[in-house]
Amino acid sequence: MAQSRTAIVAGNWKMNYGPKQASAFAMEILPELGQLTRGYQDILCILCPPAISLPAVREVTDAMPAPRIELGAQNMYFEEQGAYTGELSPAMVRELCSNVILGHSERRTYFAETDEVVNRKVQAAFKHNLRPIVCIGENLAQYESGATQEVIRAQVQASLSNFPAEKAGEVVIAYEPIWAIGTGRAATAKIAGEVIHLIRKLYHDMYGPEAAASLRILYGGSVTGANIGEFVAHPDIDGALVGGASLKPDFIEIVRKTIATKQKP
Ligand code: PEP
Repeated sequence: MAQSRTAIVAGNWKMNYGPKQASAFAMEILPELGQLTRGYQDILCILCPPAISLPAVREVTDAMPAPRIELGAQNMYFEEQGAYTGELSPAMVRELCSNVILGHSERRTYFAETDEVVNRKVQAAFKHNLRPIVCIGENLAQYESGATQEVIRAQVQASLSNFPAEKAGEVVIAYEPIWAIGTGRAATAKIAGEVIHLIRKLYHDMYGPEAAASLRILYGGSVTGANIGEFVAHPDIDGALVGGASLKPDFIEIVRKTIATKQKP
């Protein structure tokens, strides 16, 4: 399959940094991030602060425009509007950014999101011209019992089904083994690469060669500046979804190493 995919490094700030702190952190990292990404075409950097901090970070990115730095939300609802207290509609999210993380394992675990709900959210994202970053991954018990492939197959088939053919290749998938998230115990590139290879094959069977070749698949789970090089050196891994390390200047190092690794012939 063709390997001409733009790499993505996305930072999921989770429930950290309210508007003031988010703005200060964005001001701290953006000058260097902007400079780094300006020098390399094939990278996209996506910052995903808490929804309430998106306007503050947006003010900073508007003041320091960098073509390959975008913003994303961490979640949204699939309905257009109405009596859904506490939720954000796709159109509201789209007013501030062009990406949205969907189906993160923390949403699935603490807020009972199912593959079916994730699928409806992805369909809503397409409708509103938002790029969905869809998270999938097995938990520790599933990993240890050798059920990873079966779990991934079920998640891909249920949460990523019935997309319009022309949209299927625009999805970004983040393979995030739950046992690696926030634990400091990252997977190896070999383990992640094998699962990511399977995801691309499943996608190929569902949507054909073109969509499978353009689908970006990221690795997520305890990525740092020290281990990112190993992951992005793998030809099937198109970048990373970063949690803890995206709250620190180490995020700049992750972007720097991704660029340095991916631009090698
Ligand atoms: C995440 O929450 O998406 C994540 C990958 O977290 P961490 O990098 O902290 O493991």
